[in-house]
Amino acid sequence: MREYVGRFAPSPTGPLHFGSLVAAVGSWLDARAHGGRWLLRMEDVDEPRCSPGAAEEILRALEAFGLEWDGEVMVQSRRKEAYREAIEELRRQGRAFGCACTRNEAGDRYNGACRDGLAPGRTVRSWRFRVPEESVAFVDRRLGRFEERLATTCGDVVLLRADGYFSYQLAVVVDDAAQGVTDVVRGADLLDSTARQAALHLAFGHEPPRWLHLPLAVNREGQKLSKQSKAPPLDLRRTEEELFQALKFLGVGAEPGSRGEMLQAAKINWRLMFPEL
Ligand code: GLU
Repeated sequence: MREYVGRFAPSPTGPLHFGSLVAAVGSWLDARAHGGRWLLRMEDVDEPRCSPGAAEEILRALEAFGLEWDGEVMVQSRRKEAYREAIEELRRQGRAFGCACTRNEAGDRYNGACRDGLAPGRTVRSWRFRVPEESVAFVDRRLGRFEERLATTCGDVVLLRADGYFSYQLAVVVDDAAQGVTDVVRGADLLDSTARQAALHLAFGHEPPRWLHLPLAVNREGQKLSKQSKAPPLDLRRTEEELFQALKFLGVGAEPGSRGEMLQAAKINWRLMFPEL
């Protein structure tokens, strides 16, 4: 069996809200229930969306909840060299190409117009990953098997954006591999990115991690909790209550108690819910 390495990878765009607590607690529980390490990574690759001070605030919130992480925090804005090299590696394999298309020209499903070179007079705006022709399959530990043909669903994936920032899809794959992550546990909002990430892992010759997508917390209007939907920040004066609610949401409801007692009980329940790896 592979040694277990899990991670929590928040984007420091604002303070943690209930939805991010659910993802943090779920990935922490899965790692600790399987005797694994739990790493932390600040996903500030999309620098214009990040807010100053948010990363520090996230670390303080995790500490307040008793969610201890292992080792140094990886910070994506310091990893540009690794992302550049990764694109170079794909380019050498003929799997990455410079693309001249504007967002409008590319549309939602990029049809590969620049795959074989640019028309005269056009210049490179972004770099893309040439998705495989065949479909990509992956297994989610809760939701089962998925199969997706990326050429039909999203087309060639952006690696380096026209504004000069590396894409989330590239950074997450390069970093999960660099940190030796064996298990990705995160919200179900990221389920539709997973096939793209699996394809990238395979192109780099990595063994993809296992995936577990947690149920997604939504507000009364059914919207995902996020900065855009104005989710309130976690109340750090009521960490016991917030933690109790997060555990209840995850279905590992413990009795209300101290943070340590609740996490301990939840760890045992988690192991019963997700025994197999
Ligand atoms: N940084 C992403 C987010 O906060 C999560 C990425 C991941 O867990 O793969 O939505």
